Amino acid sequence: MLKMIKSFHFISCLLFLTYSQIWGQYEMPEETTEKSEKIVWPEGKRAAVSLTFDDARPSQIDNGIPLFARYGVNVTFYLSPENIEKRLEGWKNVTKTGHEIGNHTMTHPCTGNYPFSRENALEEYTLEKIKTDIETADREIQKLLGVTTRTFAYPCGQKFVGRGAGLQSYVPIIAEKFIAGRGWLDENTNDPAFCDMARLLAMESDGKSFEQLKQLVDNAAADGRWLILCGHDINDGGRQTTLITSLEQLCEYCQNPDNGIWIDTVENICNYIIRQRNNNKRQN
Ligand SMILES: [Zn+2]
Repeated sequence: MLKMIKSFHFISCLLFLTYSQIWGQYEMPEETTEKSEKIVWPEGKRAAVSLTFDDARPSQIDNGIPLFARYGVNVTFYLSPENIEKRLEGWKNVTKTGHEIGNHTMTHPCTGNYPFSRENALEEYTLEKIKTDIETADREIQKLLGVTTRTFAYPCGQKFVGRGAGLQSYVPIIAEKFIAGRGWLDENTNDPAFCDMARLLAMESDGKSFEQLKQLVDNAAADGRWLILCGHDINDGGRQTTLITSLEQLCEYCQNPDNGIWIDTVENICNYIIRQRNNNKRQN
């Protein structure tokens, strides 16, 4: 019996090893995209980077806008309409620049496991309700700032309504209404030839040193990818805050032509990729 258990154990180890090898390959596939399908960044750039900031936090206007103006960098702001009025003039001025304003829903629903969202939990939502919430945000942004949003950021990065067997993804609603939908707290960058625009990966910029952010940019550049960073407040420290010093150095690094980085809004980079994909299709 012991012998049988031992040999069973041996076989399962072997199976596990083979499986993890296959799984490992599945997780990080070799670049299988044909040359003609590859997306080449403009002007020989090695990577694209988008800086994005959520919730219309007042520090984005107070500290972010002057900083980005100093470095000539355009970013994407995903606005919560209820916060817009705290800096209404500031946000109106943003619409006259090259920055992008995107949709982040009206009431910011997340899982009810987060205490702030227990009374507005995605578990209790229907597709109809989330659609109405997103459309209300669009109307508010249009009314307050005269802007039509083109891209969306999922509150808390969560993309579902309901629970269990009745759970539904609301990604298709985003795919219909917007050219792009951005996630949050993801662990990788986007492959421009493959990525689903309605479900873009985004990595956190809050609390990171310049060295940590530079590493993410350099990793993206090594593989020709699109790094989307997401932050909240912009300040010298604190919870959910992208640090001013890190941001200054990051903007300088991305704007230095020697580093071959294209830094621009989600909308602009998304439009570029869509055009390139269409060109590739025509050539095939
Ligand atoms: Zn948010």
